[in-house]
Amino acid sequence: MSLLKEYIVALKRLIIPEICPLCGKRLIAAERFICLSCYSTAPYTNQWKSRDNMMEQRFWGIVPIERAAAFLWYIEDGGYRDLIHLFKYHSQWFVAQYMGSWFATELKRCDFLDGVDLIVPIPLYITRRLSREYNQSEYIAIGISRYAKIPYCFNAVRRVVNNPSQTVLEKEFDRWGNVEGIFKVVRPEKLKSRHILLVDDVFTTGATIISCAQSIIKSCNGDVKISVATLAASQYMFGEQ
Ligand SMILES: [Zn+2]
Repeated sequence: MSLLKEYIVALKRLIIPEICPLCGKRLIAAERFICLSCYSTAPYTNQWKSRDNMMEQRFWGIVPIERAAAFLWYIEDGGYRDLIHLFKYHSQWFVAQYMGSWFATELKRCDFLDGVDLIVPIPLYITRRLSREYNQSEYIAIGISRYAKIPYCFNAVRRVVNNPSQTVLEKEFDRWGNVEGIFKVVRPEKLKSRHILLVDDVFTTGATIISCAQSIIKSCNGDVKISVATLAASQYMFGEQ
């Protein structure tokens, strides 16, 4: 996303009165991006408030993860799914950034981010990044970073294999307990001895995050801590439906 494009989008939002993208209500001055009613009824997972939560348990025995949490439940027919689609498929990167900051306000209310000193978004494969023009997880990372005052790093990890379908990924994951070779750490010195928050948009099987975490740990010879934050998690994966 070029700087000029960012300015144009920001300018457009100034001229056109803001509407809550979830319920269509016109926002009042005190409301930012989402109306207070939608804000308070969001399908929060609340996973960041408790240790050994369901998401953390997903990594047990596979990869050492300090803390892990998704922000909202990804409900198939819910308005929040549309909100995620806005930045995933409709070029509205600022939604990702807004939601990242919103997540960070919750994370800062407890000890979830204690000790985290670097935010690393899960990278996209180059062709996918070019076709979408940006990596939505980078904007989520920027949102968290700005609110939590933790720096981010976008150039230490590279995705070297295009995202295989979730089914393929799952099969590999079941068979070997890991998914190797999707990510390559190109600047391990930036990650070594740090406590990294890995950021992604939606948590489904966790295989992508596990693969990325394993690459980072290997490249740092184990001298690294990793936590995980995603904006959404599929309820289906956690048997919550
Ligand atoms: Zn609303």
